[in-house]
Amino acid sequence: AGGDGGGREAGRVAVVLGGASGIGRATAEVLAAHGYQVVVADRDGTLAAEVAGGLGRPHESATADVTDEASVAGLFDGVHDRLGRLDAVVNSAGIGSLGLIADQSLEEFRAVVDVSLTGGFLVAKHAGRHLGRGGVLVSLSSLNARQPGVGLAAYCSAKAGLSMLTQVAALEFAERGIRVNAIAPGLVTTPLTAPAAAIPGITEDYLANTPLGRAGTPEEIAQAALYLCSDAAAWITGEILDINGGAHML
Ligand code: NAD
Repeated sequence: AGGDGGGREAGRVAVVLGGASGIGRATAEVLAAHGYQVVVADRDGTLAAEVAGGLGRPHESATADVTDEASVAGLFDGVHDRLGRLDAVVNSAGIGSLGLIADQSLEEFRAVVDVSLTGGFLVAKHAGRHLGRGGVLVSLSSLNARQPGVGLAAYCSAKAGLSMLTQVAALEFAERGIRVNAIAPGLVTTPLTAPAAAIPGITEDYLANTPLGRAGTPEEIAQAALYLCSDAAAWITGEILDINGGAHML
């Protein structure tokens, strides 16, 4: 599948963080099919290697933890040293959490903020050192960044922070010709949402407020990431793109 997409993306290097599963994995596959050379990076290096192996050459994998500054810096330094360029970064690393404020431990709250918000900061900081003019950063925020949910204090707050971080980074990187955007999906069927989907009624409640009446697929989010990374989106920066079957209207 890899490297044969032709077109203007051919030869461009993309790093997908959280690329071992779900939306990140689908994004790695779509970018590879469109000619990017993809580095599948994830905290789970074994799974990342499997995904990259499925893409074939010249795609590769890396173990990286977005909460660890040395790890993030080393990932981008390594890609730059080995491949000589960095064109697009998609940060799909994320963890879920469900817990009322009254019950949630500080440790769990911090863990969610650490991955989504602090991780977003570290990726912007260190990808930003290597992205050149025309470079792109896309982060995975969430509908929950602007739609509060019971039991979702950590997740909603962290994603709201990530959306704002995206816009600050878009302002700061604009003079270097680097675009920074986020995608805010509604419910997408992935391993992340499987535990919540298993609780009776939760999916039904959500879909009752989704005009198109179904959950999204990882591929539908990946297609938007492809677009935001491409030159077709050359005048889009600081955008938080809602993709949710219309749920943001209700
Ligand atoms: P997923 O669990 O399938 O994939 C997330 C990946 O991130 C996993 O491979 C995991 O190993 C990796 N990861 C977790 N912590 C990491 C860390 N510290 N460093 C590096 N990698 C790490 O989840 P998904 O559903 O594909 O979600 C991808 C992103 O989209 C997340 O940021 C999530 O919050 C966001 N999102 C998902 C949905 C949804 O309904 N699935 C909706 C809105 C937003």
